[in-house]
Amino acid sequence: MNPIYPWQAEQWAQLHSRVDAGRLAHGLLLTGPAGVGKRDFANAFARSVLCRQPTVDQKACGRCEACLLMQAGTHPDLLNLNPPEDKTQIVIDQVRELCRSLVMKSHAGGYKIAIIVPADQMNSAAANSLLKTLEEPTDNTLLILVTERPARLSATIRSRCQQLRFPSPSTEQGSDWLSQHDVSDAALLLRLADGAPLLALCLAQEDTLTRRHDWLNELMKLRSGQLDPVRLATEWSSDALMRPLYWMGSYLMDMIRLTSGQVESINNIDLNDRLQVIADLYSPQELHYLLDHVWQNMRQAQQSSVNRQLLLEEILIEWSRAGLRRRA
Ligand SMILES: [Zn+2]
Repeated sequence: MNPIYPWQAEQWAQLHSRVDAGRLAHGLLLTGPAGVGKRDFANAFARSVLCRQPTVDQKACGRCEACLLMQAGTHPDLLNLNPPEDKTQIVIDQVRELCRSLVMKSHAGGYKIAIIVPADQMNSAAANSLLKTLEEPTDNTLLILVTERPARLSATIRSRCQQLRFPSPSTEQGSDWLSQHDVSDAALLLRLADGAPLLALCLAQEDTLTRRHDWLNELMKLRSGQLDPVRLATEWSSDALMRPLYWMGSYLMDMIRLTSGQVESINNIDLNDRLQVIADLYSPQELHYLLDHVWQNMRQAQQSSVNRQLLLEEILIEWSRAGLRRRA
């Protein structure tokens, strides 16, 4: 119910010692890569603060009135702020409503806590509005901002928060945790997830691990002229999460590592030989250019107004042409 992952013990102890000493800031900024459990930590911490009878290790009891309300999602002193469904931004009206709730007296007489995820998706008007609450907080207000891209928050917001970093755990810790969840291939999954265990678990639970091979095959066929970029773009654009494009970026990154002799640091360790063969067909400049292009398209694809088919056609045509230029 309140997962605290084994690799978060230090941050947990650190925050609770601040609570005990009465030195908890009004704003906390939880940062670190995707898939390490920052959001779960924020929830668990908020619950432990609002619980009436926390356990000896300061976790929420799960049985008191406050815990039952939090489990039902109806605790009046615990607020969540996220982008509306189908939207990518947190807007000013949402922040204003949140701030109005925060200035009201807490129902239980303790903290009023708001968890903002992903905090970097507040647009600038929303962020400015939140800044007022961060600068002049009412007593017992706690804002927990969670983000994997802290640089996208304004320096002023960052300076008003106590930052808590959540790096990826050690490979050993990550593997141990994954094996407790009956995951085989833990080593490969962790590599593919850049060491983030929750991301690795997601990969294990979907078909990505095998689909990666198909996507790479399709890219190889595209380069040798056996596949049409427009047809492939149609197929790829049906993947709601744009996974083929994401993995195309991952392959390109590994190809760059391979051409610069960093064999040890590639992520797709099971595709090493095939990636090396393809990498030899492109110049390092072409690989860098394609990778930049993929990242740019990934960012654009997050906007709902964008034509994903066209984005994919463009990058897939680049991919097939870059190879041809080299061979000519
Ligand atoms: Zn409780």
